[in-house]
Amino acid sequence: TLLFAGRRYAVLGLGNNGAPVVRALAAMGASVRAWDDSAEARRALGDIPGVTVAPFESLAESDALILSPGIPHRLPAPHPVALLAREAGIPILSDADLLFQAVRRSGSRARFAGITGTNGKSTTTVLLAHMLATAGIPVAAGGNLGPTALSLPRLPDNGVYVLEMSSYMLERLLDLHFDVACLLNLTPDHLDRHGDMAGYLRAKLHIFDSPRPGDLAVLGFGDRPGKRLSLLADDLAASGGRVETISGSSANADLSGAGGILRDRHGVIASLSEAPALPGAHNAENAAAAAAMALALGVPRSFIAPALRTFAGLPHRQKPVATVAGILFVDDSKATNADSASRALGCYDRLVWIAGGVAKAGGIAALAPYFPRIAHAVLIGQDAPALAETLAAHNVPYTLAGTMDAAVPMAFEQARRAGSPTVLLSPACASFDQYKSFEHRGRHFADRVHHLAAEEGTG
Ligand code: ADP
Repeated sequence: TLLFAGRRYAVLGLGNNGAPVVRALAAMGASVRAWDDSAEARRALGDIPGVTVAPFESLAESDALILSPGIPHRLPAPHPVALLAREAGIPILSDADLLFQAVRRSGSRARFAGITGTNGKSTTTVLLAHMLATAGIPVAAGGNLGPTALSLPRLPDNGVYVLEMSSYMLERLLDLHFDVACLLNLTPDHLDRHGDMAGYLRAKLHIFDSPRPGDLAVLGFGDRPGKRLSLLADDLAASGGRVETISGSSANADLSGAGGILRDRHGVIASLSEAPALPGAHNAENAAAAAAMALALGVPRSFIAPALRTFAGLPHRQKPVATVAGILFVDDSKATNADSASRALGCYDRLVWIAGGVAKAGGIAALAPYFPRIAHAVLIGQDAPALAETLAAHNVPYTLAGTMDAAVPMAFEQARRAGSPTVLLSPACASFDQYKSFEHRGRHFADRVHHLAAEEGTG
């Protein structure tokens, strides 16, 4: 394709987002200047024809700047390169916009679905993609969770691109228009970047920019619809779009997952107890959102329940790993803070909890309401002693295991002793004292569980 031929792009940040963007742009015949402050990231990019790797002194020679989503471009702390873009008068883009432009300019009528929110974005994105695929609709899913938008395969006219959009990406939208868009929820996060809740909401709301007749806006409202939500719904409806509300806990939504039953005004769609990869009210919210979008995108109603049953879930998010001697091992390594761990802890009773690593501010004190559910805690990582102190203060029995290698068999032993049905890894801590990433930690856990299963099987 000659779509981007002759265009000159500057790409700053050569990580999981930037490097594939550089490759995709070069493959489209664009000329690309690329930079990352990390020498390792520059080396990993390698030599690509049409790509110059050099620090930016001016962007006068570029047509657009693509900043990795994590790099701020606004006050209070814009990156210096963002200021260069402003000086040069060129737009700062997210590669999701470039995908949209490439698809539209090719004449394709493939549709776009966008998902944002504070929590549950990735799960909802992958679940929606699975619902579409179950109904035989061609689908490509990516964006914030990867693969990055521009590296997605091109779809036929009846296809749907499902994009997870972070607030960082949404701040930079130019032309990208979503036929179906969803704001799942909004709780305080990333406020350093957006200033306050109003700023954070403003960024998120770009997902609904310039609605057209036939578009659907899906709005999550948690426990109860607020005034802000109804104003927003009125605004969207006034500009021609359709609005549907969703909730995982309130039956008052257009599409509700309250009580584990997914239903809309036509009746029951599915029982979430048959969806093993979607435990808890938070996942009922994700399921309601995905179903609302899927139905709007033409998935027949009868396909929703089978899609929920066959959804495999995302790795490291309350992912069942194996059952050993009747005890289910669950990998929730993605829970790197107390709030996220609380979602998982709320789903099980009499559990053995593996936690620890590098604690966040406040530690696990906020998890105290869940402590009665914990039969025994097994602690790993550098901040295990601090976690132990909190547990001791609440009379929760615990063992200091140090490493995952020790923790998994200890947890198994404790679960057997306590007659506990579940061992849950939900660390409530970052992983970088012992691991490269939460994925690395989760894989190691699963590896130890499989090892244990093999031993038990033969023993
Ligand atoms: P995101 O992509 O927004 O980070 P994920 O789908 O990856 O969200 O889920 C990350 C974690 O957030 C999950 O392990 C779970 O603990 C929690 N979570 C998922 N969905 C929700 C939700 N709808 N509301 C609150 N917390 C959620």
